[in-house]
Amino acid sequence: MKNEFDEKPTKNYEKFKAIALELDIVALVNFTSVIARALLTENIPKEIKEMMEYHYNEVDDFKKDLVVSLSTKEDIPIVSINWLLEDVQKVLPYVGDALLQKELIESAELFRNYINRFLTEKKCPRCKTLLFLSDLPQYDYVCSECDENFDNFELK
Ligand SMILES: [Zn+2]
Repeated sequence: MKNEFDEKPTKNYEKFKAIALELDIVALVNFTSVIARALLTENIPKEIKEMMEYHYNEVDDFKKDLVVSLSTKEDIPIVSINWLLEDVQKVLPYVGDALLQKELIESAELFRNYINRFLTEKKCPRCKTLLFLSDLPQYDYVCSECDENFDNFELK
Protein backbone atom coordinates (compact mmCIF):
# COMPACT_ATOMS: atom_id res chain seq x y z
CA MET A 1 0.00 0.00 0.00
CA LYS A 2 1.33 3.41 -0.95
CA ASN A 3 1.32 6.26 1.48
CA GLU A 4 2.09 9.95 1.05
CA PHE A 5 5.66 9.42 2.16
CA ASP A 6 6.40 6.98 -0.70
CA GLU A 7 5.35 9.57 -3.23
CA LYS A 8 7.35 12.38 -1.71
CA PRO A 9 9.69 13.63 -4.45
CA THR A 10 13.42 13.86 -4.02
CA LYS A 11 14.25 17.29 -2.74
CA ASN A 12 16.42 19.59 -4.80
CA TYR A 13 18.34 20.72 -1.76
CA GLU A 14 21.43 18.66 -2.53
CA LYS A 15 21.54 20.17 -6.01
CA PHE A 16 21.10 23.61 -4.48
CA LYS A 17 23.97 23.05 -2.07
CA ALA A 18 26.28 21.80 -4.81
CA ILE A 19 25.81 25.04 -6.79
CA ALA A 20 25.82 27.18 -3.63
CA LEU A 21 29.26 25.91 -2.67
CA GLU A 22 30.71 27.63 -5.71
CA LEU A 23 29.78 31.06 -4.39
CA ASP A 24 32.78 33.38 -4.54
CA ILE A 25 32.73 35.27 -1.23
CA VAL A 26 35.16 37.91 -2.50
CA ALA A 27 32.89 38.59 -5.48
CA LEU A 28 29.93 38.91 -3.11
CA VAL A 29 31.83 41.39 -0.93
CA ASN A 30 32.70 43.41 -4.05
CA PHE A 31 29.10 43.27 -5.28
CA THR A 32 27.69 44.64 -2.02
CA SER A 33 30.34 47.37 -1.78
CA VAL A 34 29.61 48.55 -5.33
CA ILE A 35 25.90 48.66 -4.46
CA ALA A 36 26.59 50.55 -1.24
CA ARG A 37 28.42 53.18 -3.32
CA ALA A 38 25.62 53.32 -5.89
CA LEU A 39 23.13 53.92 -3.09
CA LEU A 40 24.94 57.19 -2.33
CA THR A 41 23.84 58.54 -5.72
CA GLU A 42 21.68 61.52 -4.90
CA ASN A 43 19.10 61.63 -7.68
CA ILE A 44 17.77 58.06 -7.36
CA PRO A 45 13.96 58.21 -6.96
CA LYS A 46 12.91 57.52 -3.36
CA GLU A 47 10.89 54.36 -4.07
CA ILE A 48 13.69 52.73 -6.09
CA LYS A 49 16.24 53.66 -3.45
CA GLU A 50 14.13 52.30 -0.57
CA MET A 51 13.53 48.97 -2.27
CA MET A 52 17.18 48.68 -3.17
CA GLU A 53 18.24 49.47 0.41
CA TYR A 54 15.87 46.83 1.72
CA HIS A 55 17.19 44.14 -0.65
CA TYR A 56 20.75 45.30 -0.10
CA ASN A 57 20.37 44.88 3.68
CA GLU A 58 19.08 41.32 3.27
CA VAL A 59 21.99 40.34 1.05
CA ASP A 60 24.46 42.27 3.21
CA ASP A 61 23.29 40.46 6.38
CA PHE A 62 23.77 37.17 4.60
CA LYS A 63 27.23 38.29 3.44
CA LYS A 64 28.23 39.18 7.03
CA ASP A 65 27.16 35.74 8.29
CA LEU A 66 29.02 34.10 5.46
CA VAL A 67 32.21 36.07 6.06
CA VAL A 68 32.10 35.24 9.78
CA SER A 69 31.45 31.52 9.40
CA LEU A 70 33.06 30.98 5.96
CA SER A 71 30.83 27.94 5.61
CA THR A 72 27.12 28.80 5.77
CA LYS A 73 26.43 28.44 2.08
CA GLU A 74 23.30 26.36 2.46
CA ASP A 75 20.75 29.14 2.57
CA ILE A 76 21.82 31.62 -0.08
CA PRO A 77 18.97 34.14 -0.43
CA ILE A 78 18.56 33.62 -4.17
CA VAL A 79 15.33 35.59 -4.31
CA SER A 80 16.85 38.59 -2.51
CA ILE A 81 19.90 38.55 -4.78
CA ASN A 82 17.58 38.33 -7.78
CA TRP A 83 15.64 41.39 -6.57
CA LEU A 84 18.86 43.27 -5.94
CA LEU A 85 19.94 42.53 -9.50
CA GLU A 86 16.63 43.91 -10.76
CA ASP A 87 17.21 47.02 -8.61
CA VAL A 88 20.62 47.47 -10.26
CA GLN A 89 18.91 47.70 -13.66
CA LYS A 90 16.52 50.34 -12.31
CA VAL A 91 19.23 52.41 -10.68
CA LEU A 92 21.74 52.36 -13.56
CA PRO A 93 20.22 55.34 -15.45
CA TYR A 94 20.71 57.54 -12.37
CA VAL A 95 24.35 56.64 -11.76
CA GLY A 96 26.33 59.41 -13.39
CA ASP A 97 29.80 58.09 -12.52
CA ALA A 98 30.87 56.02 -15.56
CA LEU A 99 33.34 53.90 -13.60
CA LEU A 100 30.76 53.07 -10.92
CA GLN A 101 28.23 52.26 -13.65
CA LYS A 102 30.72 49.87 -15.27
CA GLU A 103 31.43 48.18 -11.92
CA LEU A 104 27.70 47.81 -11.26
CA ILE A 105 27.11 46.23 -14.67
CA GLU A 106 30.04 43.85 -14.31
CA SER A 107 29.30 42.68 -10.78
CA ALA A 108 25.59 42.34 -11.57
CA GLU A 109 26.42 40.22 -14.62
CA LEU A 110 28.66 37.98 -12.53
CA PHE A 111 25.87 37.40 -10.01
CA ARG A 112 23.22 37.01 -12.68
CA ASN A 113 25.28 34.20 -14.18
CA TYR A 114 25.70 32.68 -10.75
CA ILE A 115 22.07 32.73 -9.66
CA ASN A 116 20.87 31.66 -13.13
CA ARG A 117 22.45 28.33 -12.31
CA PHE A 118 19.69 27.88 -9.71
CA LEU A 119 17.05 28.58 -12.35
CA THR A 120 14.96 25.62 -13.50
CA GLU A 121 12.57 24.91 -16.37
CA LYS A 122 9.64 24.59 -13.97
CA LYS A 123 7.05 27.34 -13.98
CA CYS A 124 5.29 28.95 -11.05
CA PRO A 125 1.71 27.63 -10.77
CA ARG A 126 0.51 31.15 -9.98
CA CYS A 127 2.42 33.58 -12.22
CA LYS A 128 4.23 31.24 -14.68
CA THR A 129 7.63 32.75 -13.90
CA LEU A 130 10.50 30.24 -14.10
CA LEU A 131 11.31 28.88 -10.66
CA PHE A 132 14.62 28.79 -8.84
CA LEU A 133 15.74 25.79 -6.79
CA SER A 134 14.59 26.54 -3.25
CA ASP A 135 17.17 27.32 -0.61
CA LEU A 136 14.92 25.63 1.97
CA PRO A 137 15.46 21.91 2.53
CA GLN A 138 11.72 21.31 3.00
CA TYR A 139 10.85 22.68 -0.47
CA ASP A 140 11.95 22.10 -4.06
CA TYR A 141 11.40 25.41 -5.81
CA VAL A 142 10.94 29.11 -5.12
CA CYS A 143 9.26 31.82 -7.21
CA SER A 144 11.05 35.17 -7.22
CA GLU A 145 7.88 37.00 -8.23
CA CYS A 146 5.54 35.54 -5.62
CA ASP A 147 8.28 34.96 -3.03
CA GLU A 148 6.67 31.59 -2.46
CA ASN A 149 8.20 28.13 -2.08
CA PHE A 150 6.73 25.06 -3.77
CA ASP A 151 7.01 21.32 -3.57
CA ASN A 152 7.40 19.29 -6.74
CA PHE A 153 3.92 17.78 -6.38
CA GLU A 154 2.34 21.25 -6.41
CA LEU A 155 3.51 21.78 -10.00
CA LYS A 156 1.78 20.41 -13.06
ZN1 LIG B 1 5.06 33.10 -9.06
